[in-house]
Amino acid sequence: MIDLLKDVREFEDEIINTRRRIHQNPELSFKEYETARLVAQKLRRLRITVTAGVGGNGVVGLLKGSQPGRVVALRADMDALPVNEETDEPFKSKNRGVMHACGHDTHVAMLLGTAMLLDMHRDELHGAVKLLFQPAEEHGGRGGAKPMIEDGAMRNPRVDYVFGLHISGNCPSNVFALCKGPIMATPDSFKIKIVGRGGHGSAPHETIDPIFVSAQLINALQGISSRMIDPRKPFVVSVCSIHSGSKDNIIPDEAIMEGTIRTLEERVQTQAKANFTKIVKSVCRAFGASCEIEFMKDVYPVTYNNPAATKRVFSILREIRGTRTVECDPILGAEDFSRFLQKAPGTYYFLGTRNPKKGCIYPNHSSRFKVDETVLKYGAVSLAKIAMQFTQPNLVPNR
Ligand SMILES: [Zn+2]
Ligand SMILES: [Zn+2]
Repeated sequence: MIDLLKDVREFEDEIINTRRRIHQNPELSFKEYETARLVAQKLRRLRITVTAGVGGNGVVGLLKGSQPGRVVALRADMDALPVNEETDEPFKSKNRGVMHACGHDTHVAMLLGTAMLLDMHRDELHGAVKLLFQPAEEHGGRGGAKPMIEDGAMRNPRVDYVFGLHISGNCPSNVFALCKGPIMATPDSFKIKIVGRGGHGSAPHETIDPIFVSAQLINALQGISSRMIDPRKPFVVSVCSIHSGSKDNIIPDEAIMEGTIRTLEERVQTQAKANFTKIVKSVCRAFGASCEIEFMKDVYPVTYNNPAATKRVFSILREIRGTRTVECDPILGAEDFSRFLQKAPGTYYFLGTRNPKKGCIYPNHSSRFKVDETVLKYGAVSLAKIAMQFTQPNLVPNR
């Protein structure tokens, strides 16, 4: 009987040390050169075929089992954030203004741990496992998943199932959290340019004041959620930046507003964007202003967990001693792991790292984000267990 939890003890120190080394040397999206080099170097020490430079800095490892079976891909993202680290960790970022504040350092370290476990059990392994080390998840619209897919990461051999894991500062340590169906949102970023007619601050009647119009718009847009979208469907619109004006007594010509719309269903997304456009145009017209609306193109899709595969993942995770698995609500953040899930069914899930006793109380993206490293072994084991089961030809329903 294979006991991955026992086996992982052999590698636990290495997983933690790798995580610390990457944490200390964080690299921003599209600049993950050293991280990718480290990944390739560590994979090459195992019986894994490595392809570097996949869709940019992506690294793909292929580990073939000794028995026939399916192909399972496991993904870890590698990039850090433009945040100045304010933790007291001895392995704090050496790269000022750049920090692994989303925990992608742990994703890389855990997946390398998984690679060691799978290599160890190669004789019992069916099919093949692809290890996808992805750059630029944090970039937003143009993340690293798409170029990796375009570069063939999901083909040759074709991937049957794909899985990914994210460390979560909101969820308690040793807890896996996931749900079937949509688990993360699609993020429609927008930019509105309100074009008015500037003039003297003392004579607004001679102007078309774009700042006044922007204030009306902020209010009116919230009417989409309260009065236009089915209240049982998750939806958010947030205006997150407004830029206009130069001096206290000048009404400016223009105002620029930027923000984001989050939805979990394509139908709601289409409806929300149509309502949004109608409101912006109508409010601007009502006050004599004109407008230009831009939506970011090719945004990350909804991260959709295949129900049958996810049901199986629930039971696999529940077998891991020392952990708990809970069903969570979807969140309205976004992830380009969604693009892999468009190519093959699978599951995206969270592993909690919140532990007040160790000061791990800050959310992902905080400059004080701290990880409870004892959970990393569970992450590595969970991915290995999933891979070992889903590669078996008859254990889970296909597609
Ligand atoms: Zn993030
Ligand atoms: Zn992240």
